[in-house]
Amino acid sequence: MSAPVRTTCAYCGVGCGISATVTGERAVRIEGDPDHPANAGRLCSKGRHLGETVGLDGRLLHPMIGRKRTSWDRALDLVARRFRETIAQYGPGSVAFYISGQLLTEDYYVANKLMKGFIGSANIDTNSRLCMSSAVAGHMRAFGEDVVPASYDDIDAADLIVLVGSNTAWCHPIVYQRIMAARAARGAQLVVIDPRRTETAEEADIHLALRPGSDVALMNGALAWCRDNGALDSAFLEQHVSTPDGFWDALAEGNDLWSVARTCDVPAADLRRFYELLAVTPRTVTLFSQGVNQSLTGTDQVNAITNLHLATGRIGKPGAAPFSITGQPNAMGGREVGGLASTLAAHMDFAPDNRALVQRFWAAPTIAEKPGLKAVDLFRAVGEGRIKALWIMATNPAVSMPDASRVREALADCPFVVVSDVIADTDTSAFAHVRLPAAAWGEKDGTVTNSERTISRQRALFPLPGEAKPDWWIIKEVARRMGWKTAFAYDRPAEIWREHCRLSTYRNDGARLFALAGHGAGGNAAYDAMPPFRWGGTPFADGRFPTADGRARLVPVAQKPIAAPLRDWPMTLNTGRYRDQWHTMTRTGLAPKLARHRAEPLVEVHPQDADRLGLVDGGLARVSTPQGGSLYRVAIGDSQRPGELFVPIHWTDKTSSAGRTGLLPRPLADPISGQPGFKATPAAIAAVATR
Ligand code: SF4
Repeated sequence: MSAPVRTTCAYCGVGCGISATVTGERAVRIEGDPDHPANAGRLCSKGRHLGETVGLDGRLLHPMIGRKRTSWDRALDLVARRFRETIAQYGPGSVAFYISGQLLTEDYYVANKLMKGFIGSANIDTNSRLCMSSAVAGHMRAFGEDVVPASYDDIDAADLIVLVGSNTAWCHPIVYQRIMAARAARGAQLVVIDPRRTETAEEADIHLALRPGSDVALMNGALAWCRDNGALDSAFLEQHVSTPDGFWDALAEGNDLWSVARTCDVPAADLRRFYELLAVTPRTVTLFSQGVNQSLTGTDQVNAITNLHLATGRIGKPGAAPFSITGQPNAMGGREVGGLASTLAAHMDFAPDNRALVQRFWAAPTIAEKPGLKAVDLFRAVGEGRIKALWIMATNPAVSMPDASRVREALADCPFVVVSDVIADTDTSAFAHVRLPAAAWGEKDGTVTNSERTISRQRALFPLPGEAKPDWWIIKEVARRMGWKTAFAYDRPAEIWREHCRLSTYRNDGARLFALAGHGAGGNAAYDAMPPFRWGGTPFADGRFPTADGRARLVPVAQKPIAAPLRDWPMTLNTGRYRDQWHTMTRTGLAPKLARHRAEPLVEVHPQDADRLGLVDGGLARVSTPQGGSLYRVAIGDSQRPGELFVPIHWTDKTSSAGRTGLLPRPLADPISGQPGFKATPAAIAAVATR
């Protein structure tokens, strides 16, 4: 048995530290790392069962062209040639990368550099677009930079914890344990704002089961209440916040308690209790997640939350912050390198000065001029023939993108599709002309950043199996074959990390908070031994924000009208996660014990709807939307509001003939962030006869 290796969990954005002891050829004992700041030794069920997922069943172990095994040289030459030819014939905008929050920061950095600095396009987007891009857009509007102004320590120090659109007990279990600990230690109050009565909501002092899509009204009402009841921080507003003309007058319209209660369809007495508690509790942390981000008005919802915190001065102080918790293990690392179509690099946008700086730093032949195609538009462009060569890394968009049938049609028609992944056969790799075997968790080395900005090392436990290679290696080999040898002469992830740290501080005049000054110092040994650390200290503790005038901004946001139910699609469909599954189950599906929690996909229905529609608990029903339909087993209960349905996202063609949720949502996105709305799709449900 070897000595324990300190690494980081492969799943959610909590970013728990793991102590992994290799016990055999592909066997490992997993324990929580007691010294990691995110979890102090705790692990949830998914993390605890990681050891069951490290076998080689179903792994892609060799490069493949079509269905035939080939050599790395032939596969890489083909990818480089087809990208080069496509760019030469149709321009840099005709190619795209679609990458993943599962990639390590070093992988993300190399992919972003290749696309933006050498190919010269910003058509690189990520499945993190589906997870937290509304938070990114909201932070940039309010603070001038995508900075999460909170840490897990704030949860420990809060007197009031507000959870908006987050089933934290299931989706971020170790954060939830900290919330429970704060309740036990300090008597912190818990308010849950969520249309569903989830396991998290069951624990709340106040649960506001609001009408889907009415979050802006609820938060604007909270701000109006705070103003009317003396809870604003006038000195902070005066010194540190820009307030647009007419902001407070606009807020006076329709944001009284009774109007908000009606709009949100919640009891006025419960709403009043929340507002009263909020007004008198300076140490308030508002955590939000997919229920906010995955909305067609997600960015406005984020800014309704940031407005409340800025106006009450509840930011930059212990126990007081708006806190976006991320879904994926490295969504934050991707944001830091700028691996999104909407950012350039290292928290910089496409302003001319930034473009010149990054191009000079990379010694690049070109630089992307403007933002590229965000996920929904990117796959639409594939379907319309505007993207002719697409490289998908470590993700499964044929299942996870909204309106997945159209995405599959687009992939089938695309002239050249490359998939680099750990798994041999995914719903997406069926459309690949070239498949490249990537290193899995437990085989790769690099860094990840969690929801609170803590950067931790992922470390290899096993040798690379078959011919698998790390993603950074695959990308740099293609770049070198496209003609850019010097700029991609990396031999190890530590070299990429050091370059990333240098870029984060390169001619940074101190205005940007994201700066890894000093962290790239030392050689490979320092990188190997690097302990977890959180960058940015306590953001905005001095009241200065990374805007031109150093002030944060209140952003006027108004509640949009909520559409009435449609005649043919009278239900509202919500989608989300189960406690013990992850994304499309390519990893959690390998751990049999995790299937015990929920063995099959259920559609959760309110008893009134079940009675009206003749649905039987445990029977089958077909859920349909204008995009498609799929079967589910019916679970009747009052966790849903009447007229609303909930289904899980995990099952796919590869795992089941039922529960194919990716077929159902609309390919519509928030106009500012580009994040698709998965939470309120017009739908219908009908019983399916069984014999
Ligand atoms: Fe892994 Fe998230 Fe569970 Fe922590 S909370 S063990 S990071 S899945």
